[in-house]
Amino acid sequence: MRSYFRTNSKGFKKFESLYIWKQLKENRGKSLPWYFDVSINRMPAKYLISRSITCKFTDLTNIDEQKLWEEYTNLTEIFLEKWKIIRSEEIDIITELNQQKETSLMDLTVELVKRMLTHCNFCRWNCQIDRSIQQTVNEDSISCQTRRQKKHGTCQLESTSKVSSYFHHRGEELIFRGTNGSGTIFFTSCNMRCSFCQNGDISTDKENGILITPNNLALMIWQLRMEGSHNINWVGGDPTIHLHTIVQAISMLDSFKIDWINNSKDLDYIESVKSDKYFSNLPYDSEYAFYKQSIFNSPQLWNSNFFMSSEAMSILRTLMDAWLPDFKFGPGKCALDLSRTPWYWETVTNNLKLVHEWGEDFVIRHLIMPNHIECCTKPVLDWIANNMPEVQINIMDQYHPDNLCNPLSPKYKDRYKEIARSPTKEEIRRAYQYANDLNLNFKPLSHEKNV
Ligand code: SF4
Repeated sequence: MRSYFRTNSKGFKKFESLYIWKQLKENRGKSLPWYFDVSINRMPAKYLISRSITCKFTDLTNIDEQKLWEEYTNLTEIFLEKWKIIRSEEIDIITELNQQKETSLMDLTVELVKRMLTHCNFCRWNCQIDRSIQQTVNEDSISCQTRRQKKHGTCQLESTSKVSSYFHHRGEELIFRGTNGSGTIFFTSCNMRCSFCQNGDISTDKENGILITPNNLALMIWQLRMEGSHNINWVGGDPTIHLHTIVQAISMLDSFKIDWINNSKDLDYIESVKSDKYFSNLPYDSEYAFYKQSIFNSPQLWNSNFFMSSEAMSILRTLMDAWLPDFKFGPGKCALDLSRTPWYWETVTNNLKLVHEWGEDFVIRHLIMPNHIECCTKPVLDWIANNMPEVQINIMDQYHPDNLCNPLSPKYKDRYKEIARSPTKEEIRRAYQYANDLNLNFKPLSHEKNV
C-alpha cells in the first residue's frame, strides 16, 4: 500500500515557474490562463462547476432527449455565467458543492451521452447506430445470431471502451508535460483511417488494451493526478468515440474518497497497462490533486483529431479545461486520400471556430508531412492567420513513415509512396518560414525542445 503526504511537498512550484509561461505572454499570443490556474489548483476544473449547477429534472431517464437538450442548452448559459464569476474569484464553489444534493448539469451530461450512444452521433460520421447494446467481456458468449445482427459504425465500436496504456507523458508540449508529465490515457481505435498513423498499433486494432469501466477510468485519473500529472490528457486513436465512458468517469471524480485509491480492487487490473511503474515507488501527494485542499481537482485536456459532431462539442464545452486539436490537411483531397475521411476541412475548421468563439484555451498542432507543404501546411497556416492569428500553434517536424507508409513494414502500401519518407530539411524550413511570414504564434511551442 502506498503512503500519502499532504502538505510538505512543493506541489506545482516548479511547474509554475517554468520559463514558457512568461514567454507565451510576452509573445502576444494566448497563454492558456484558465488551464494554468486549474493545473495548479488555484481554480476548480470545469467538471466541478458543472456539478454545482442544478438541473430542473429529477428523474432524467424518463425525459425525452429533445427536452434534455433544451435543458442542457439553458444550463450551459448558467454554466458560462458562473464560470465567468469564478474566474474573477467572486464565489466559493466548495460551499455550493457541499450543499448540492439535487440532479446537476453533470448528471444531465451523463444522461445525454448515454442517449447519444443509442444513435451514435459522437463524431461527424454520424452513423446513427445503437452502440448501447451490451458488449460482453467474453466474446465467446455472444451467440452467432447476435454477432450477425450487430451493426457497427466507422469506428467499429460498441458500448465498451479499451485503454491501451496510461502514464505521465514526457513528450507533449512543455505547458502540458510540465515537470511531472501529462497524465495521458491512450484509448484503442479511431474514427479516422490515417495511413501514416504514428500510433497505428492502437488506432487500428480495437482489441488492443484492456476493457475499462468508467470506474476504472476514474481510478486512472485519480492515480495520475495524485502522482503529480499536470492534466488528464484524453487521446487515442481518438477519444471522441469513447465519449460516454469518459464523461461517466469524469462525473465520478468528486465523489471518491482519498482512501479509496489504495483500497480499490481494480488497482492491479488498471496497473497492468500503466507504462511508468517508476511512480509506483513514490507516495501519493494530495497537494497535487485538491482544490482548496478539499475536493479532487484535475484539468481535462481534449487531445483529438477534432472530427467531432457539434453535439459532442457542446458536451465537451462544459467539461474540458483545455483543447489540443490536430489540424492536418488542407481543403483538397488529401484527407480522403491519406485518411479515408470525407468532410475533414469543414468539420475541423467549424470546430476550431467554435473553441475560438467560446474563448477556450487551446493549442493547434500541425504535422509537417513530406510533399504536402503546398496542399496542406500552407492552407492550414493561412486559415489560422485569417481566423485566429493569436492562437498558439505547435508546428511539428517529427513525421516519420509509419503504419501503411513504412516501406520496411509488411503493411506497406505502394499507393502511399509520396509520404513514405521523413520531410526534408528544406520542407521543414519552408513550413517554418511560411508561418513566420504570416506572423503566427508558433515559436514558443514548436521550438521549445531545442531550448
Ligand atoms: S463514434 Fe463516430 S464513427 Fe463511431 S459509431 Fe459514433 S458516429 Fe460512427
